[in-house]
Amino acid sequence: MSKNQIVVEHLVKRYGDNEVLKDISVTFKEGEVVCIIGPSGSGKSTFLRTLNKLEEATSGEIIVDGFNLTDKSTDINKVRQHIGMVFQHFNLFPHLTVLENITLAPIDLGKMSKEEAEEKAINLLELVGLADKRDEKPEKLSGGQKQRVAIARALAMNPDVMLFDEPTSALDPEMVGDVLNIMKKLAEEGMTMLIVTHEMGFAKNVANRVMFIDGGHFLEDGTPEQIFDHPQNPRTKDFLDKVL
Ligand code: ADP
Ligand code: MG
Repeated sequence: MSKNQIVVEHLVKRYGDNEVLKDISVTFKEGEVVCIIGPSGSGKSTFLRTLNKLEEATSGEIIVDGFNLTDKSTDINKVRQHIGMVFQHFNLFPHLTVLENITLAPIDLGKMSKEEAEEKAINLLELVGLADKRDEKPEKLSGGQKQRVAIARALAMNPDVMLFDEPTSALDPEMVGDVLNIMKKLAEEGMTMLIVTHEMGFAKNVANRVMFIDGGHFLEDGTPEQIFDHPQNPRTKDFLDKVL
């Protein structure tokens, strides 16, 4: 049995009177590739963001790699070194080159020497197919290339878990495949991944677990076959009818 990498217990998140996450309890195991699907406003981003404390839980417990995020004495910066995150809008540093974007965190946090960080960055740029762009600034890259750099940057810290929040939603259609292929490669290498996505083909083919969230609850949690071919909840059926 692989170990539990993320344990969420009775997680509640409120913004004022708006209860966005309603008593969520869920466990993710090492090596799981989980696609989270659901309508706009259902709490997908909020859920991912509580897992590295970009949003603070209102109540409940979140344990990542044995670190309790809800414990005040936990050093969140240390935990974040274990969790890479990729956003819809890349968030690259515009004034730095591609290589510098990737090496910044490992060098600044004292994780690697400059030489080690650069060697790692060059390997990662090979992985994402952008070795020739190392000295470019982000503005010279297409959206798909920027997102591949953002993935390389997240991987530079050797994370145990990667969180993806709609990584292909802002891309032109012809760029989507390149980014999904890299994510597929990572999945095949055994990376633990939680992916919020509207790419149902990817969810079917690459995920080993699919979860449907609506109204702040996970209403469905199963294999891709279970969710796509035999959804149990009428709201899952409705949602799939609209997107498939
Ligand atoms: P999704 O990613 O599924 O589209 P979100 O997690 O972004 O949904 O948002 C869920 C709900 O939380 C929405 O009602 C949204 O308006 C609200 N929300 C998200 N972020 C904030 C915030 N920083 N402040 C107040 N409300 C927020
Ligand atoms: Mg979102």
